[in-house]
Amino acid sequence: MRSFVFNGQPSRVVFGAGSLAHLEREVQHLGAKRALVLCTPEQLPLAEVIAQRLGAHAAGIYPKAVMHVPVETANAAIEEAKRMNADCALAVGGGSTTGLGKAIALQSGLPILAIPTTYAGSEMTPIWGMTENGLKKTGRDPRVLPRTVIYDPELTVSLPAGLTITSGMNAIAHAAEGLYAQDSNPVMDLMAEEGIRALASALPKLRANPADIDARGDALYGAWLCGSVLGNVGMALHHKLCHTLGGTLNLPHAEAHTVVLPHAIAFNAAAAPQAMQKISRALQGAPAALGLYHLAKDNGAPTALRDLGMTAADVDRVAQIAIQNPYWNPRPIVPEALPALRELLQRAWEGAPPVE
Ligand code: NAD
Repeated sequence: MRSFVFNGQPSRVVFGAGSLAHLEREVQHLGAKRALVLCTPEQLPLAEVIAQRLGAHAAGIYPKAVMHVPVETANAAIEEAKRMNADCALAVGGGSTTGLGKAIALQSGLPILAIPTTYAGSEMTPIWGMTENGLKKTGRDPRVLPRTVIYDPELTVSLPAGLTITSGMNAIAHAAEGLYAQDSNPVMDLMAEEGIRALASALPKLRANPADIDARGDALYGAWLCGSVLGNVGMALHHKLCHTLGGTLNLPHAEAHTVVLPHAIAFNAAAAPQAMQKISRALQGAPAALGLYHLAKDNGAPTALRDLGMTAADVDRVAQIAIQNPYWNPRPIVPEALPALRELLQRAWEGAPPVE
């Protein structure tokens, strides 16, 4: 008998190839009349298509989203939303753009309509993040959970091949850690296993043909499930390490997740055997940590932190940071764990296979 608490989170999900066709209906459903469209500079053409379709229901475009939501960018976007009298933040893009929408929602309470174009999963979480003076602060607030999410696999066909694999591995990381979360529950376990299965089957097909729309659909479906897990249960060592690698060393988000994941899973394997079984089942019987390593490597993703710009000296620094204020983890992160943690990071730095 398993005891648990399950907290349903109120968000409306519209999924399907071509579902951008429902944009006007969904904006109306939110009761919005002046949506501010947010995007990165690279995705301005897509944002323009969306603003044009909304016509008078678009307040304007703010095309300045960047990674990790610098507080200056957030403040400027909040001012722009006020100036344009916006009543909705429409975030089209990856986690960086959704993150900017969350910064606006946190301050103003405006509803977010998210149209994700990567597999990062931020659209399914009430977690916000902002960076000030090189330090990334994060928090949870129900106001930043997007009210409506339109998942249209057609918008992900343009995702570059490399980012397709690393962003997919980033999503898998949410589900893998969700499987051994302290506050996990049976619903999230089902979603996590199914999310890993869907992504693990889609990624090799997308490596072979990035325009395979069925595989794009499977990957985005997996990303939805994995993002939901991230939004519902706590994360552990893997996310702590990646938070440090991104926040302190500024390593690229999805790539850092991809490299670290097999090693973090190996580190926790003996302490979380049921989670390992489920990951293995989702990987068609491959051993959990090694299966994830090969899913990334065989599909051309980076496997070494040194190739992402981390120096040998940073190995000790990151291990020290991870051991201070650790997240809860199935294998306790106590001072005696420092050598094993250092070894984990050393292997990830070199690109060696994970060792349980
Ligand atoms: P991203 O949003 O930074 O996007 C990376 C690049 O890919 C950008 O240049 C973007 O314009 C481009 N891009 C996105 N979709 C594209 C597409 N379909 N076609 C072509 N180019 C496309 O990357 P990300 O990995 O999605 O997000 C990373 C950020 O999100 C990090 O800051 C991370 O901390 C945050 N995040 C937050 C949460 C949360 O719950 N708060 C969850 C996951 C990630």
